[in-house]
Amino acid sequence: MALDLVLLGPPGSGKGTQAARMTEKYRIPAIATGDILRAQVEAGTPLGRRVRSYLARGELVPDQLMVDIIRHRLSEPDTEAGFILDGFPRTVPQAQALDAMLAELQRPLDAVLYLEVDRQSRLDRLGQRHRGDDRPEIAEHRIDVFLEQTAPLIGYYRDQGKLRLIDAARPPELVEAAIDDVIRSLVGAGASPNTRPPRS
Ligand code: ADP
Repeated sequence: MALDLVLLGPPGSGKGTQAARMTEKYRIPAIATGDILRAQVEAGTPLGRRVRSYLARGELVPDQLMVDIIRHRLSEPDTEAGFILDGFPRTVPQAQALDAMLAELQRPLDAVLYLEVDRQSRLDRLGQRHRGDDRPEIAEHRIDVFLEQTAPLIGYYRDQGKLRLIDAARPPELVEAAIDDVIRSLVGAGASPNTRPPRS
């Protein structure tokens, strides 16, 4: 059974932490677009040179670039058993492109886990990290970008009946347990539309 998931949440909501735990437990790859982009920047590839300034400013990289990266990544064989998208989609056009891509593969998303955290806890968490774009002014800006461009995805996925809210203002172990509950309910429900028997 494939488990196709999206982790959605503002900067500092703990997506990366949870994605790492889920990938170990469920043996499906976590695809973190921020990590992919930072690796390109560090390696100084043409793509890295193109996206560097967006990352430094805390702006979103253009949709088409991101969609191409994800299309390529989802064509790798390790995603056959499922995947956890961490950091994609981040805009409505990205979400639409993802839906189209997955429809072609006949494997629609199983669920979108929204990690909810209040603004102050987010800023506190970002303050404990040491990434270049975690400087307070850039971190604040990334949160604004989230509210403007990514938050509309909450409604987008709620309308699809895929949104699952996770209270992420708690210690990571409790967040992890809440995510496990959701995944158990998906698996219990026959999970992947790939394997769900036809309704009678
Ligand atoms: P965060 O902790 O803010 O969620 P990420 O590591 O996911 O950080 O992303 C870091 C940066 O990478 C973003 O600020 C943005 O510049 C770029 N980025 C990552 N994913 C996307 C995406 N799906 N669309 C556009 N830009 C992205």
